[in-house]
Amino acid sequence: AEEVPLTRTYGGLADQDRIFQNLYGEQDWALRDAQKRGDWYQTKELMWMGPDWIVQEIKDSGLRGRGGAGFPSGLKWSFMPKQTDGRPNFLLINADESEPGTCKDREIMRKEPHKLIEGCLIAGFAMRARAAYIYIRGEFFNEAITLDKAIHEAYENGLLGKNAAGSGYDFDVYLHRGAGAYICGEETATIESLEGRQGKPRLKPPFPADTGLWGCPTTVTNVETIAVSPTILRRGASWFNGLGRKGNAGTKLFIVSGHVNNPICVEEEMSIPFKDLIDRHCGGVRGGWDNFQAVIPGGSSVPLLTKKLVDDAGDLYMDFDGLKAAGSGLGTAAVTVFDKSFDMVAGIRRLAHFYAHESCGQCTPCREGTTWMEDVLKRMENGNADAREVPMLEEISRQIEGHTICALGDAAAWPVQGLIKNYYEHLQERAEAGPENAQRIQQSSYQ
Ligand code: NAD
Ligand code: SF4
Repeated sequence: AEEVPLTRTYGGLADQDRIFQNLYGEQDWALRDAQKRGDWYQTKELMWMGPDWIVQEIKDSGLRGRGGAGFPSGLKWSFMPKQTDGRPNFLLINADESEPGTCKDREIMRKEPHKLIEGCLIAGFAMRARAAYIYIRGEFFNEAITLDKAIHEAYENGLLGKNAAGSGYDFDVYLHRGAGAYICGEETATIESLEGRQGKPRLKPPFPADTGLWGCPTTVTNVETIAVSPTILRRGASWFNGLGRKGNAGTKLFIVSGHVNNPICVEEEMSIPFKDLIDRHCGGVRGGWDNFQAVIPGGSSVPLLTKKLVDDAGDLYMDFDGLKAAGSGLGTAAVTVFDKSFDMVAGIRRLAHFYAHESCGQCTPCREGTTWMEDVLKRMENGNADAREVPMLEEISRQIEGHTICALGDAAAWPVQGLIKNYYEHLQERAEAGPENAQRIQQSSYQ
């Protein structure tokens, strides 16, 4: 990935290139202010360009899914049948944002809900869908109220419903609240839950584009992906594609938390180098870069990168290819920074607990393996394990990875593998240290 240069010299994203102009809530989220910011401008004219034009523009823009997987959006939209076989097409917005460290879609729904609603209409039209369902995370109570009000505003102003936005196209948007299960963000579990069943993922294929909601062709897509689409169409595919690196186009919401001086959610150019992101927007690492221990750069489902791996990667471009080349992934772009005071064994044990708790339980490797990993890590953290359990822990994680119905199994295995790969000797030493010495070993080996 290093061989592909930035399309222009990196100097920080200019304000006029920011899609989300109200990310920090300086203005009202409601329709009047949203329209002043450019939302709902010439929506019908965009739609009159036709579904094929819209899909092609999104393809040309290089937009890739912002939910974590980075699947090319235009291609995904193009999977939807153009001719009906009697089944309606649906758009399903995944607003069940639950990945640890991730809170970008939440900000969009709080401060820029009309970007999402206008995106639903345009993207839904491009997919020949007559309705969009927004499945919102149960804990997002206030966000659901804001979104609900914004949807009503859109109906009252003729932007949704019959002849939506004067386009001649009828389109409805429904809001559905989840009940607080992480797994309901997995697209087929979202569908199951919306249909009224337990949120247990389905085997893929068939993909939702073929057999989705109520057995009908469905595109399941992330809030940010849909919310940026109207601006891309208004400003042109080449504008968006001119930002970031080849194959990693556009702007992106990054969420930085952990041991930085100012945690933030910020829209930046895709491919911004990691250290620039932290220094420019977060006031640097707590205690300076010498105090930096590691980072999980894309939500808890991607492997951690230690200081050595970050240094070895050079500029470490914050995009799909740059982070993949470094051994991790962009995921949801939720960047969690750890300084040297942090006990990484305790951190990964905490994540193991999260995955064990959130497993839906239908695959044996995931159901049994995640709880087993948590148990071993707990004992290692406290010095109550056996050094021989380190390779065994690795083996458990390998038996989960790739052997489950959905990606939660892999997501649970990777942080543990990252810990073992980067802290092998420490884990062996600490495992048998006994409760009284475990903490001392942790401190000495990281500094
Ligand atoms: P995936 O790669 O299986 O699928 C990505 C999308 O592309 C899906 O919509 C899928 O239907 C579609 N797709 C892929 N191949 C296709 C094909 N051949 N035909 C038709 N459609 C196809 O990934 P996923 O399981 O949807 O997502 C995994 C990612 O989700 C992880 O990398 C993680 O970063 C992220 N994640 C995000 C959150 C969050 O809160 N936003 C939570 C957990 C995980
Ligand atoms: Fe459920 Fe885990 Fe299997 Fe996913 S991998 S379907 S969460 S048991």
